[in-house]
Amino acid sequence: MSGADLFDRLSNAGAVVTPAASAASTVLVGHAPEWLVEPTSLHQLGAVVRILDDSGIPWRVDSRGRNWGYDDARLRTPGVIVRLARLDRLSLDVELGLATVQPGVTFAKLKEALTEAGARFYLPPPGSGPHTSVLGNALDRGLLSGLGERERHCRDFLVMERDGSLHRPGWTGAEDARVRGALPYPPGPHGQGALFQTAGYGPVVVELTHVLQVATAQAMRLVVLSGPVLTEELVRCWRELLLEGLVSGSLLAPQARRRAQGTAIAHDGLVLDLSVTAGSVATLRAKAADVQRVVRQHGQRLALRVSEHPDDLRILGGDGERPEEVAQLASGLEWHTAALPFAPSMIVAFAKAVQAEATLADTPWSLRPLDDRAVVWLSPFVYRKDDPADIERLRRRSAAFDRIRGEFHLPTYRSGGARGGR
Ligand SMILES: Cc1cc2nc3c(=O)[nH]c(=O)nc-3n(C[C@H](O)[C@H](O)[C@H](O)COP(=O)(O)OP(=O)(O)OC[C@H]3O[C@@H](n4cnc5c(N)ncnc54)[C@H](O)[C@@H]3O)c2cc1C
Repeated sequence: MSGADLFDRLSNAGAVVTPAASAASTVLVGHAPEWLVEPTSLHQLGAVVRILDDSGIPWRVDSRGRNWGYDDARLRTPGVIVRLARLDRLSLDVELGLATVQPGVTFAKLKEALTEAGARFYLPPPGSGPHTSVLGNALDRGLLSGLGERERHCRDFLVMERDGSLHRPGWTGAEDARVRGALPYPPGPHGQGALFQTAGYGPVVVELTHVLQVATAQAMRLVVLSGPVLTEELVRCWRELLLEGLVSGSLLAPQARRRAQGTAIAHDGLVLDLSVTAGSVATLRAKAADVQRVVRQHGQRLALRVSEHPDDLRILGGDGERPEEVAQLASGLEWHTAALPFAPSMIVAFAKAVQAEATLADTPWSLRPLDDRAVVWLSPFVYRKDDPADIERLRRRSAAFDRIRGEFHLPTYRSGGARGGR
């Protein structure tokens, strides 16, 4: 099938087809799509998928296409991106605290609907801002403050196979819809994990149900102020806070991270951000006292956090409220990640190895817990797109990070669809 024939068939199916060969991206790797194909209904998506399957052209799907630093607007080989942003149906079960979302539903749209419904539930947006996709971020195992690993918060998937057929894995279709949403897994063996981190090259998830967080009435932001070098005692303290269930969100970052985001904090060492939440003032006070006890036991220093959490996109010179501009910015970014066990000696050894590498010493890394057994190391490498020396530096940094990750036999946590190396 010629390119023109394919273009005509996709357009005739009713989808919005845009030539996208020069599409901007935050990442250097991969290929720009020849076309961006945007179906406006599930029926159209079925037709598009069958046409593409028939044509043999490589294609991947994304939801909002804002997987900045991983694979936004990029493919592994030349081909087509099917963007599902126009499929944006949302339904809420405010009694059970569940949101059923199509790919186009953003965190902002979900928040608005929950506010309108007066629900006691919410879902925190990622650092990439509120205009990214709830479903897309979840499928790439996105990290949301306080939620940790997302797979267990997602259920009742409606999936379109690459031949256009639709099904709900693990369910017969005869079950009560609320039961499907309320149960974490379908009965019996299931393959839900196979739907995650396919980078849009696998089955297409056209709907899923996401468990929402309870919006607690009381919250307090605390920080553990530590020295510039990561110590086992700090990691032990952090883990103890998690094991005792005292904090609902936490993140560890060095001064370089705060500098990159333009946050002015006098402290020049590591900061462990803690968020403590409770249903009542009395419980919040009791929890804060317990946090103080654990922090003291580990010889660390606790303080109240006064500054607001800055917009993460400032690392790039961007703004979460202007998502359409991010890929066009003068600076790009690549995330390099590693998953580690929550073992103090290993985390400290890994941090030391990264610090000891000259090209990596000043990176604004952060560590985030997946739960109380595993953490994720995230290093954002920012580069100026028009500066060959900076691009060369990015390559050297990536190679150095990959080498260290390899020496510790660690997998990446996320790497996106434009790079291999999962
Ligand atoms: C400065 C900065 C800060 C960031 N902070 C965070 C953060 O705090 N937490 C975080 O998680 N991420 C963060 N990111 C990374 C990224 O921007 C977000 O994860 C963003 O939410 C993903 O974009 P999206 O929602 O538009 O998903 P998409 O790009 O649409 O999708 C994400 C991935 O899932 C696949 N996918 C999407 N939809 C489907 C589908 N229907 N079926 C099958 N596969 C699909 C896509 O192919 C893609 O690989 C940050 C990025 C930057 C640059």
